[in-house]
Amino acid sequence: MTTAKIRKISQIVQGLNTSDGAGVKLKRILGSPELNQLDPFLLLDEFKNDNPDDYAAGFPDHPHRGFETVTYMVAGSFTHRDSKGHEGHLNAGSVQWMTAGKGIIHSEMPEQADGLAWGYQLWLNLPAQFKMTDPKYQDLPSEKLPVVEEKGIRVKILAGEYKGAQSPGKSFIPFTYLDVSLAPGAVFERTAPPDQSTFIYVIEGKAKTGPETEPSYVKAGFLGVFGEGDLVRLEAGDEKPVRLLFASAQRLNEPVVRGGPFVMNTMGELKQAFVDYQTGKLG
Ligand code: MN
Repeated sequence: MTTAKIRKISQIVQGLNTSDGAGVKLKRILGSPELNQLDPFLLLDEFKNDNPDDYAAGFPDHPHRGFETVTYMVAGSFTHRDSKGHEGHLNAGSVQWMTAGKGIIHSEMPEQADGLAWGYQLWLNLPAQFKMTDPKYQDLPSEKLPVVEEKGIRVKILAGEYKGAQSPGKSFIPFTYLDVSLAPGAVFERTAPPDQSTFIYVIEGKAKTGPETEPSYVKAGFLGVFGEGDLVRLEAGDEKPVRLLFASAQRLNEPVVRGGPFVMNTMGELKQAFVDYQTGKLG
């Protein structure tokens, strides 16, 4: 038996305040100039606004091709509608998982006129062989997402598996996505194989990561990328609880050519996506 190697943080990235859609204020954590992508992750946005002026305009109809969007609502609610006839209500604690595949046009609009709207949208690339798959929509209400609680650790399984509990979400590649809360002194450990890109994004508090003898710390509002190894170790970095998103997925090691809402493997495929959209053949 070999000893697991604890993965150390190799890069820490601060989210960038920007806006998207029809003027929704958000923080772009991944997919920014500082960290354009982390194969197969293409984008991570945090929207967390309690002023309706900053979210009410929502994300009206827009296209996607070549990847999946995984949206996790922490507070508030949005309605999703798309060109394939899917309609979903993203309520607090739910995950909305859309496989754009060969093309879909969708809108994401707030259902509320006041209060906090808080969530995360992650873009997960599709392997070349599945980029033109039929679009798919998975609506995963909060009560269908398992929660594992033990010894100061609470883990909600948004995708993948943790301690034998499995999210009903189906992915094309090995993919784990967890909402992790740790009380001071609690230690979270899980395998994260070397062929997977792995990161945490700290929502609240401060995370302590890496080997106990050589820790590094990631504060709220920052994303930490893990370097080589096969085990991730996390605990609260001070006397306060820490809450974070943990994500790990198998690298595709394929060329990425992205333009706006399309992510393909070649420039020709990207140009075709724009032509198909402009001629009404997408979605
Ligand atoms: Mn979208």
